[in-house]
Amino acid sequence: MKAVALLVVLSASSVAGAQQPANPQAGPPRGGAFARITEIGPGESCPPGQTEVRPHRCLAPEFAPPSIVDYRPRSTLVVPAHKVPKARYPAIDYHGHPNQLVTSAQGLATLGAALDSLNVRMMVDADNLSGERLKTAVAAVAASPMRDRVRILAGVNFREVGPGWAERAVKQLEADVAAGAVGVGEIGKGLGLFNTKADGTRLHIDDPDLDPIWDACARLRIPVFIHTADPEEFFRPIDYNNERWLELSLFNDRRYPADRFPTFEQLMTERNNLFRRHPKTTFVAAHMGWSANDLTSLAKLLDEMPNVYTEVGAVLYDIGRQPHEAHDFFVKYQDRVLFGKDSFQPEEYPYYWRVFETDDDYFDYYRPYHAFWKLYGVNLPDTVLRKLYFQNALRITPALPRTGFPR
Ligand SMILES: [Zn+2]
Repeated sequence: MKAVALLVVLSASSVAGAQQPANPQAGPPRGGAFARITEIGPGESCPPGQTEVRPHRCLAPEFAPPSIVDYRPRSTLVVPAHKVPKARYPAIDYHGHPNQLVTSAQGLATLGAALDSLNVRMMVDADNLSGERLKTAVAAVAASPMRDRVRILAGVNFREVGPGWAERAVKQLEADVAAGAVGVGEIGKGLGLFNTKADGTRLHIDDPDLDPIWDACARLRIPVFIHTADPEEFFRPIDYNNERWLELSLFNDRRYPADRFPTFEQLMTERNNLFRRHPKTTFVAAHMGWSANDLTSLAKLLDEMPNVYTEVGAVLYDIGRQPHEAHDFFVKYQDRVLFGKDSFQPEEYPYYWRVFETDDDYFDYYRPYHAFWKLYGVNLPDTVLRKLYFQNALRITPALPRTGFPR
């Protein structure tokens, strides 16, 4: 009886599939599907090209399977959908990369129009500006209608760390803060992954030669916005079990094989040592510290270190795939998470608003190569949204203007 039922189900699905243009001549199988079953033992996986259709029974599709870039199933789910073009409260994008837009009146006008359409009140420019470039950007902002709506973080140059480096770096940072920088960042993944010391060795994130710069940040009351490593999968073998296989295949600069790079765990350990060693310095770990896929570990970090905050840029795929867990995390750590977007693509912000503000089910993400899944709304309460969108950023960054935000 069981075998007959299986046959009926397989025939039905093959009939639906028969409309595929790839094989228009194919008719319903005449019992052939069941005959093609391959049995596997407990704990074994199906052979390549086959999928498990019943416990321990594998079957190959009759039509040539599409590659993962061509398979784009249309969802037939009908549920309420709430598009959210503008944030519910004026937001601060703490992870801004406006690049050239901050250097001219015309660029700032373009930026302002885009931010207005999204209800982003302020952008914090994390493009590592320093010296003359910083001064040029500060002057352009001050002379524009965006004067209260853009603030700039200072970059730190981690090349040639060795004798004399710290004095020069602290002096430059003091000059940049005097010129208008409100924090440091974005310290990039190069610190840990690529930067070498003057003696040629890898510059560890927790190298004591860097201590004076972190201490200066505490003294100057400026936060440090830091991006460490990259998603864990970028450090793992690029096989068909890797969640980021497609992305790793598309972008060769995101691969960190163990024979050429420190491990993900090593970089996280160095970063956490840095946070721990400088309890008076405020750190904002970008991209939820690459722990959005493991909120328990991120919670542990935040519990242990009250000087650490985090930011949501470019990890929406992890937040939106765990609406229950994420909701509880954002409520519990509502004083510790900042909004930030990273790459400046105005059309992508509304996906963030929808995840944070609605309880919508199963909707598309904006980067299909990041994630082979849909997103769900986390439905955060208003008090939490206000902290996430602007209050936390204002609290930890004393030099940000307060105008334009609800009290
Ligand atoms: Zn960034």
